[in-house]
Amino acid sequence: MPIYEYRAKDQKKACEHCLGSFEATQRMNDAPLCTCPVCGGPVVRVISQFSVSAVPSTRSLLSDKSIKRHGFTKLVNEGDGKFRKI
Ligand SMILES: [Zn+2]
Repeated sequence: MPIYEYRAKDQKKACEHCLGSFEATQRMNDAPLCTCPVCGGPVVRVISQFSVSAVPSTRSLLSDKSIKRHGFTKLVNEGDGKFRKI
């Protein structure tokens, strides 16, 4: 499950838990937290550089090179029921 980083929106109202930043493990389709689980104060999600750059784009995953490296063969439909291996 991905880990998200949050920090207090308003440092003056923050508790010890959310004053700096804290991490929360959430499922991909969970709504992002908007309040601190400890004090209930407003929090914002911090988009960390690491998790953004660590996710390869779908385009590069499905490139011909990547497909070959993972042992898959790409077939291109040439029409008339013929397929060409790449
Ligand atoms: Zn808090």
